[in-house]
Amino acid sequence: MRGFSPRQREEAPMGAAAVISLAEVRERKQQAECRWHLHERLDQWLDALEEQVKESKPTLEQLTSAVWERRQELTGSLTAALLEQRYEAEQGQRSAPCPQCGRSVAVRAVVSRRVFTLVGEVEVDRPYFYCVPCGHGFAPLDATLGLAAGRKQFDLQRAAAKLTAEVPYETARELFAELTGMKLGTERLHTLTNTVAKGVGVLDVAPTRSEIAEQIATVAAGRHQRPILVLAIDGAHVPTRPDTAQGSRPGRKTQRAKRARWQGQWREAKGFRGYLVDDDRIVHLLSWHQIQSDEELFAALQQVKDAGLIPEEGVRLCVVADGAPWIWHGVAQLFPTAREILDYYHCSQHIHSVAELHYGAGAAAALEWVEATMARLFAGKVDGVIWGLQRLRPATAVAAAAIDKLIGYLRAHSHRLNYGAQRKAGYPLGSGGIESANKFICHARLKRSGAWWYVANSNHMLALRCAKYNGTFERVFDRYKQTVLVQSQHKNVKK
Ligand SMILES: [Zn+2]
Repeated sequence: MRGFSPRQREEAPMGAAAVISLAEVRERKQQAECRWHLHERLDQWLDALEEQVKESKPTLEQLTSAVWERRQELTGSLTAALLEQRYEAEQGQRSAPCPQCGRSVAVRAVVSRRVFTLVGEVEVDRPYFYCVPCGHGFAPLDATLGLAAGRKQFDLQRAAAKLTAEVPYETARELFAELTGMKLGTERLHTLTNTVAKGVGVLDVAPTRSEIAEQIATVAAGRHQRPILVLAIDGAHVPTRPDTAQGSRPGRKTQRAKRARWQGQWREAKGFRGYLVDDDRIVHLLSWHQIQSDEELFAALQQVKDAGLIPEEGVRLCVVADGAPWIWHGVAQLFPTAREILDYYHCSQHIHSVAELHYGAGAAAALEWVEATMARLFAGKVDGVIWGLQRLRPATAVAAAAIDKLIGYLRAHSHRLNYGAQRKAGYPLGSGGIESANKFICHARLKRSGAWWYVANSNHMLALRCAKYNGTFERVFDRYKQTVLVQSQHKNVKK
């Protein structure tokens, strides 16, 4: 109290008391009450647990399994109590404007709604309103809380979609129940996955321009040369079924039990992967794979380019692919200054098969010739290789045709073959980068025995897997969540 004037001293006790306002007293009381409720719930839970674990000296597993089994009773009820505390005012709301006509509507009742979340079942008490002229019922607290329309809330849906993107639906169903304590049927998982991925395009799954710039800057740090950005383009075969197999009610058990009337078909999922070369390491930037036409693939690549996701001025861009003409045609249009590399492995395969036709399969001469030819290509002597090919005397017409074809192939790709120089400059010689993406993104999930995918569904799955691989899954899920929330708002407003 030193330094206070007599007047202040006199007033101090009064002032100190006035610091706590009536509102604050009420709030503190409420808080204490809420805490008391929470503790009460915990006590009840402990009682139930003690009832369950009769042993006085249970093993750790006996204890953990009992706690695990009942964990959601506790976390769910705690969450409900916390909600009650935060939304006391909203729960007491007496009137609300009708979202359709704007009339003020009096509350009908407080309706309790049970929702399922990762922390268990949560009971939400919320005032329910009903506008008689509009015949429209609504609960404004649902929107405030960001509740999903059904019982299963977004946290559960997010976990489920992540799981189905990795493992077959049936496995996902099992794991989901085991890990979350909540049930979602395979049909529901299937629908959810396709809904989350619906309309997802390359820019939805791609990292942002600044995220990519950051990756490039990290790799570029402390180097004299701009980092190499590899754009690899390729196709992977995935098993599909025709849309006509859809019948009246796809996925129904009765339908499944019947023998398939349709013929499965392997189709090419065309895709690209962009990555940085950091010494011996690959720094993944983005992948996009879909069952799509050449035009669609390059349209996606154009979008990526236009969005500034391939900053050509900051990198040394190189494109690696096999000999497919559609690829190189598109690349020339889109990235005319990029360094082009014909995948070394594909090239050597080509040379191998000609050697077998000419010298005979497994012949020592065939292997020697392949080795010598690849060495010459490595040294940049493609003209010499062509010259040599022209001087071979094939024994059969088949071999002659194959040799002619190889000459055409080497001529068409002559500027993409200078492997030795490419390697010296740090460029990759092969499309191993995209082949591993094909494996991880396409094959790992789509190629399962007995699984034949509708094209639309396989593209949904591929989009989600690209998102996971690109580190943008959360963003893609949030996009879905926002769409659902906006839709339910509209449903409320629109007649
Ligand atoms: Zn109304």
